[in-house]
Amino acid sequence: MFWQKEFETMKRDKLEKLQLKRLKETAALVYNKVPYYKKLFKAKGVTPGHIKTLEDISKLPFTTRDDLQKNYPDKLLTIHHHDTMRLHTSSGTTGKPKAVFFTRKDIDVAANNIARCLTMTGVTKADVLQNMMSYGLFTGGLMMHYGAEKVGALVIPSAIGNTERQLLLMEDFKTTSIHLTPSYALYLSDIFEKKGPAFRKKIKLKRAYMGAEPYTEETKKKIEKILKVKVYNSYGLTEMNGPGVAFECEYQNGMHLWEDSYLMEIVDPKTDRPLPDGETGELILTTLTREGMPIIRYRTRDITAIIPEKCKCGRTHRRIMRIKGRADDMFIMRGVNIYPQQIERVLMSVAHVEKNYQIYLDEGDKIKVKVEITKKLFDGNLEHLKKLQADLTEKLRTEILVRPSVELVEPGSLPISEGKAKRVFDNRKIY
Ligand code: ADP
Ligand code: ZN
Repeated sequence: MFWQKEFETMKRDKLEKLQLKRLKETAALVYNKVPYYKKLFKAKGVTPGHIKTLEDISKLPFTTRDDLQKNYPDKLLTIHHHDTMRLHTSSGTTGKPKAVFFTRKDIDVAANNIARCLTMTGVTKADVLQNMMSYGLFTGGLMMHYGAEKVGALVIPSAIGNTERQLLLMEDFKTTSIHLTPSYALYLSDIFEKKGPAFRKKIKLKRAYMGAEPYTEETKKKIEKILKVKVYNSYGLTEMNGPGVAFECEYQNGMHLWEDSYLMEIVDPKTDRPLPDGETGELILTTLTREGMPIIRYRTRDITAIIPEKCKCGRTHRRIMRIKGRADDMFIMRGVNIYPQQIERVLMSVAHVEKNYQIYLDEGDKIKVKVEITKKLFDGNLEHLKKLQADLTEKLRTEILVRPSVELVEPGSLPISEGKAKRVFDNRKIY
């Protein structure tokens, strides 16, 4: 199902023409209205007039998280804040918050993009969407809420936490779809397992939209199995309106990124060189329709690749792969670049491993992985435990090229986060 078919299936040449028009407008807007951008453009020796083709985007300056923080609270606005009507800040997983302002139109565009996402996964006005994301400054609450309201679904703003109440709402109001972080989904699946199949039979859940932090295909499968839902990957960031930037369609093979709202590039994070479709690097996004606070070439620090092939669903907006990790989460061990998701992938693919894990990096480039295992195995035969430990150690070594020490712990013994999870603890002095 389509929400805005004419835009979602627009022919590539027409879409690219629209992108170029919007890029020129956006560049002129920030150049004329935001002194900081004028300075950045001048330092690169460019003016908006230099943009003749979409490739010319590479002549424009990047915007970094640091630029947003330097211009905190409102120096990147094109208008007075009286003419905006909403403020969101990033959740601050990685440093000081970044403030983003929205006009009425900006919110409307963001909500429309989310409406497209929900519609393509089957949501209609007959659905009940329980939004289990924080309703504070974080976009996961309000932005998703506005998008789901646009579709006409019944939205339950349950926010995060208070799990018993969440279950009650699910049961009483026949929730069909939930929106939540993978960490909270793991927590929720523990509760589902404890409640047993009788509880699952009472509820009508069909789908879960999961995003706001990186997770692996294996984690998704685990959650799908326990909650008995389809899990759709949802990508977004506050700087780019929050949820609804890129989303899986019914074919669930990569996430369509709404290219009439964002111009995307992939660059090599070390050399800043643009990379062709299919190659993995840092995702760079430029807003194409934003009025209040347009952002040029934002360095998301998220690592992914553009999928060049057309999608079977007929949408022409290109897809991106599951986010491999954040450039900031990557750590180096004995010269090898490692993402926590590589470790997660191995852990979640092995039988008897539960859902929670932690990674400790210690002096001398030592890496320790603590992982919860099933109660049955934990209480069982020592030989079986030793075998699992050896098996995990070897599989992890093959994946990350460093031999970790693996500690198998009791299920439920590692802390669970309701917000974004902290998995890596780096105790090395110099890194
Ligand atoms: P913060 O950077 O403070 O966490 P946000 O709450 O805006 O701020 O989070 C956006 C970030 O969350 C993205 O840049 C990305 O790293 C991560 N993220 C969001 N959705 C996904 C997803 N589906 N898969 C992987 N990572 C995601
Ligand atoms: Zn598709």
